[in-house]
Amino acid sequence: MAEDDVSQEWFTRAQRVTPGGVNSPVRAFGAVGGTPRFMVRAEGAYLYDVDGNDYVDLVCSWGPTILGHAHPAVVDAVRRAASSGLSFGTPSPGEVELAEVIVARVGPVDQVRLVNSGTEATMSAVRLARGVTGRSKIVKFAGCYHGHVDALLASAGSGLATFALPDSPGVTGATAADTIVLPYNDPEAVTAAFDRHGADIACVITEAAAANMGVVPPHPGFNAALRAVTREHGALFILDEVMTGFRVGPSGWHGLEGVDADLFTFGKVMSGGLPAAAFGGRADVMGQLAPAGAVYQAGTLSGNPVAVAAGLAQLRLCTDDVYSHLDKTASAVATIVCEALADAGVEHRLNTAGNLFSVFFTDTAVVDYTTARSQSTARYAAFFHAMLDRGVHLPPSAFEAWFVGTAHDDTALDRIAAAAGPAARAAAEVADS
Ligand SMILES: *Cc1c(COP(=O)(O)O)cnc(C)c1O
Repeated sequence: MAEDDVSQEWFTRAQRVTPGGVNSPVRAFGAVGGTPRFMVRAEGAYLYDVDGNDYVDLVCSWGPTILGHAHPAVVDAVRRAASSGLSFGTPSPGEVELAEVIVARVGPVDQVRLVNSGTEATMSAVRLARGVTGRSKIVKFAGCYHGHVDALLASAGSGLATFALPDSPGVTGATAADTIVLPYNDPEAVTAAFDRHGADIACVITEAAAANMGVVPPHPGFNAALRAVTREHGALFILDEVMTGFRVGPSGWHGLEGVDADLFTFGKVMSGGLPAAAFGGRADVMGQLAPAGAVYQAGTLSGNPVAVAAGLAQLRLCTDDVYSHLDKTASAVATIVCEALADAGVEHRLNTAGNLFSVFFTDTAVVDYTTARSQSTARYAAFFHAMLDRGVHLPPSAFEAWFVGTAHDDTALDRIAAAAGPAARAAAEVADS
């Protein structure tokens, strides 16, 4: 019996009733081949699948489970909230408390609106920017992912990089025509775009540190240059912290770098692992949202009491100690992997943004989407499967960040270390492509 027999049965069933067998494309293993593992349980640093295998998890639900899976305090908060009602359709105290925690942590954020996904957060932030400025054009960067918002799906990294879709069918020319896509980490390109279109640009949106083409941190001064050029031209600056927010530090990337923005978007960690996200910013900008202002935005389940309880419980436990532990753990995992690759003679580059990191299988410095795509995805696939066979769950694509949580202890690190050598040798056996 193969170790993925039962997963294979579920995948076959799933493909009958769900497109590609999954509810989010990267989960299908399209970029690495093989059968996605169907999980039944997650606890601490580990995932448990339907075939009885367990894995040290370096995906952490793509970021949210920063304290480890099923952290007792978060689960307990969810249990208590659920037993008091699953949804009220009215305001409730938890929403206020979660907003207060976010506002207290991120200086430039005076007000937030809660939504259900990062996609909704960026979509709403862009609408607000257009509504406030009365302008139509938006600037985004190649390789930055902001969810599957039509206008933001141009050169969007992540699943789109994985599947090499330059754009998505279904996104009309009219929607994409107002999106200006520029190379990441290239301030001159931004200045040039503003010289040409400045009067029509509503906003610049960027990942606070890009982490959906693999991790590509902003060059020092890049985000500050975006802040300056938007201010000069009366456009809004949106820092998308859906991935970095409350993950790379108590106040996200903003706390590490200190660059402010008019609007921020949050998700992942602040959700505690349930569907919740937020966008927020200056009171005079947020005040233009309905019902205070004219820009419409709404949600039946927004501020859901169970999701809010999970997010609050998790954020309250995300202390400075947690972040220093995460920094150490991330650096330990990265060192293990890079040493194994060096020993096996596999070309690679480590990029980090706080405790987020990725290892690119290339000898080129990765600073933008073009250089990110110089990596050998075939080598990554070989490495990925050799790690998976040895009980380590990496992102099933070379264009993703790797994530650690506080539950990753020495036992988990030992398993990663034992797997990394053979996996590096498997990568070395893949011919140059
Ligand atoms: C994950 C992510 C999103 C989208 O969030 P969803 O909850 O998946 O819709 C948006 N922006 C960034 C930077 C992300 O990493």
